[in-house]
Amino acid sequence: MTIAAAPSLGAENPWLNAQRQFDNAADILNLSPGLRAVLREVRRELIVRFPVKLDGGGLRVFEGYRVQHNVTRGPAKGGIRFHPDTNLDEVKALAMWMTWKCALANIPFGGAKGGVVCDPATLSHRELERLTRRFASEISVLIGPESDIPAPDVNTSGEIMAWIMDTISMEAGYSVPAVVTGKPLDIGGSEGRPSATGRGVCIVALEACNRLGMEPHRTSVAVQGFGNVGSVAALLMHDAGFKICAVSDVHGGIYRDDGIEIHDLLEFRARTGGLAAFPRTEPVSNSALLELPVDLLVPAALENQITVRNAGRLQARVVVEAANGPTTPDADVILERRGITVVPDILANAGGVTVSYFEWVQDLQSLFWEEGEINHKLERILKKAFVQMCDHADAQRVSLRLGAYLVAVKRVADATAVRGIYP
Ligand code: GLU
Repeated sequence: MTIAAAPSLGAENPWLNAQRQFDNAADILNLSPGLRAVLREVRRELIVRFPVKLDGGGLRVFEGYRVQHNVTRGPAKGGIRFHPDTNLDEVKALAMWMTWKCALANIPFGGAKGGVVCDPATLSHRELERLTRRFASEISVLIGPESDIPAPDVNTSGEIMAWIMDTISMEAGYSVPAVVTGKPLDIGGSEGRPSATGRGVCIVALEACNRLGMEPHRTSVAVQGFGNVGSVAALLMHDAGFKICAVSDVHGGIYRDDGIEIHDLLEFRARTGGLAAFPRTEPVSNSALLELPVDLLVPAALENQITVRNAGRLQARVVVEAANGPTTPDADVILERRGITVVPDILANAGGVTVSYFEWVQDLQSLFWEEGEINHKLERILKKAFVQMCDHADAQRVSLRLGAYLVAVKRVADATAVRGIYP
């Protein structure tokens, strides 16, 4: 009798998954029990509940979180997401992933994340501003240019960062641009930041193809998610020669086996507000998109998209994780067994936080760089991290994810050991 693979307990709890990924690296690194205990938990977690005045005159109480996983190598860093399904465990996982992401890119930050349980689509612009400003005030006990620096994430934007920057500045009595990154250019944002995560995905996809002997011109791609990350990744990968055969947003996707002209699609979306009915494409659901016959898959939406339920049916040779946590550890095992290469999130989407680091440095110096210089520096950092990840994966004969974790966890562990334990 064959027994179907059952998901292990809590298989889709991102926090348990993040801890499992850490444990895999800690085992190989032979981390001491003390260090392991420090690094597998978050340093601080703040839950806030706060009222927001609604346009109709009523009040509604929202719940939000700011979690700092680690601050050993520098200030905590990580985005804020507004999503109806966010919760403390998700934010804890995202904070831990930020620690490893910053360590792998070797930028001097720890890891943090924030979230507010809300559906921005149901809030007016004014309600969204009041919610953002009150949340910023509630977490102002933690955030600051030297302590913890938020940025955009799912459903948050440059405008929302501007409101956070303004709220913190009004409370301080002077402008504090370096308290958030991903701001508009007018108030100390950086050239290249809005496109940085997608640009990083493209850089890393090209490196992965190079390693596997795949030519971009002969590589078909499906991109799940067409937000800030997915749309820029699709555009830059299209311009780099990849054939983008499918893309999707929250409402569903479109597919065309001989490739979609992404410039035209962006223009179409700006005009119609969606992807559906783009000429000469067929509709495809978000789950079916993952199983399309393409060479390279870019999940650029949310966690837990590739699980034990569909990992056996993926047809891609390579998965480039533009989202955070799109593949569960159980699915990772299946993909590895099937010879599918996964370029892990902590490298594939590190372009965003890397240019956030440049933005923070520019704000602190009040000296601003040109976009060419920023893109060049970004490429250098990601390529170096790619090589280090591959070297560790090859030396230990493990997956790229584990290779990336070995580099990142060791950097944080070494920094902890060298600082010593206070007092
Ligand atoms: N939210 C992005 C991420 O998950 C960017 C974080 C940042 O720039 O601090 O990496």
